[in-house]
Amino acid sequence: MIEQNSVPGVSRDQKDREARSHDFGRMAQRMPAAIAVPKNAEEVSSIVRKAARDEIPLVIRGGGHSQGGQSLTDGGLVLDTAELDKIQLLEQGLVRAQGGAQWGEVVDALHGTRQLPPVLADIAEVTVGGTLSVGGWGTSSHRYGAQVGQVEQLEVVTGTGELMRCSRTENTDLFDAVRAGQGQFGIITDAWLRLRKAGERIRLYALHYHDFDRFASDYEQIVHEDRFDHLRAETRIHDRQIVLAAGIEYDGDLDDGQALEGLGYDEAATLKDTAEVGRAGMFPKWGFFRLNYHPWRDWLMPWGALRTLLAQPWLDPGWVPRVPDSWVGTYPIKTGAIDAPLFISPEGEHVFSYSVLTVQTRHEKASELAGRLRKIDKTLVDLGGKSYLSGGTGYGHKDWRAHYGEKFEMGTRWKEEFDPKRVFRREGMPFGESSEASPG
Ligand SMILES: Cc1cc2nc3c(=O)[nH]c(=O)nc-3n(C[C@H](O)[C@H](O)[C@H](O)COP(=O)(O)OP(=O)(O)OC[C@H]3O[C@@H](n4cnc5c(N)ncnc54)[C@H](O)[C@@H]3O)c2cc1C
Repeated sequence: MIEQNSVPGVSRDQKDREARSHDFGRMAQRMPAAIAVPKNAEEVSSIVRKAARDEIPLVIRGGGHSQGGQSLTDGGLVLDTAELDKIQLLEQGLVRAQGGAQWGEVVDALHGTRQLPPVLADIAEVTVGGTLSVGGWGTSSHRYGAQVGQVEQLEVVTGTGELMRCSRTENTDLFDAVRAGQGQFGIITDAWLRLRKAGERIRLYALHYHDFDRFASDYEQIVHEDRFDHLRAETRIHDRQIVLAAGIEYDGDLDDGQALEGLGYDEAATLKDTAEVGRAGMFPKWGFFRLNYHPWRDWLMPWGALRTLLAQPWLDPGWVPRVPDSWVGTYPIKTGAIDAPLFISPEGEHVFSYSVLTVQTRHEKASELAGRLRKIDKTLVDLGGKSYLSGGTGYGHKDWRAHYGEKFEMGTRWKEEFDPKRVFRREGMPFGESSEASPG
């Protein structure tokens, strides 16, 4: 057993445990036995060694924004990365950020340098380790893919407590296992992230479409031409309209007429024009109330399925509350630069994310919706889609095998190699569990 004070930063305090007993989704509640908040990689290593020795299940928690219980444990230890938050700008277009650093903090640390990570998440509070463990897509994914493809090197504590560096040339299996690895193989303590040149300012347009077919034509054209630096489309479920947020980074002047030329929207407005280029595409923290229920699900869909999905009846406003708000979000994603094998995506040069994001104020309603989304999952998978593992999939062994396909055996082998004692374990994990169905 991990005793309070036997390892630095371990707490059994009721309040500390309660605060980590649910996640952003609030669809599951699991009470940990203890919390550890290490201050450096050496402390992480010593906590993992103790957990391995005493056979204590350990889950890693970054910002706790996942929605399917990925950072929760009943009776185990939560390792919270909140204090692993240092950020250092390096030479050669790189920034080094600890696993618990939030993406908003990374952006702020780069203020004034005219450099940014190629892809940013749309909220500031998710952590570097948290999004690198699922993929990390955002408004510039149509050009740069996902964050897992934009990281140069990682420092990781494996399930045996060993602290290792890995990259595309050093300890490559570990590098491939932890990127989009859902915290099953190791704890990312440090990441060396690539940077790109950023514009002096950004102008974000909101383009409104009532005709979904016209939207699809514009979306296809825009992605093909690579006309905008930032793209995010939202189907507002109650308004029966799609709003495309399209952004351009610029120095000097920007000609609106030229930027929007030839597009078939119904109305256009300038959403913002700001020098805060990195934070411009991020939703404000107050936009989400953490006591609501969020049975969110995301998928990656083949580009060819776009029009089929826009025509689907499951966006019926009748079963989704108007207030607070509910929408379906879509990012186009270029697949070529995503070289993380456990980031599972359909084939094709571009795919698109498809996120059903409804906010519920009552748990029963949220559970009903989660059940419905599991049925929708089957339809989307039949259309060639793949789940993005931020929400609760409910997948059991057979589903995980189908999800990972030929990569399933590889993941199982990596689990054996990097976490032989199954320190990183929780309900519903795909690798290294028995062949029984798992709730997820
Ligand atoms: C409002 C909102 C907006 C979002 N927007 C985006 C978006 O724009 N793009 C996008 O890609 N996703 C988005 N997501 C999904 C989100 O990025 C993922 O759920 C992400 O995993 C959450 O990161 P976190 O830091 O909160 O991690 P947690 O939820 O705490 O953990 C997520 C997973 O990563 C593991 N993990 C966490 N830290 C580490 C670490 N240091 N080392 C190894 N494993 C670790 C955990 O064990 C868990 O399996 C959004 C979610 C919400 C709620």
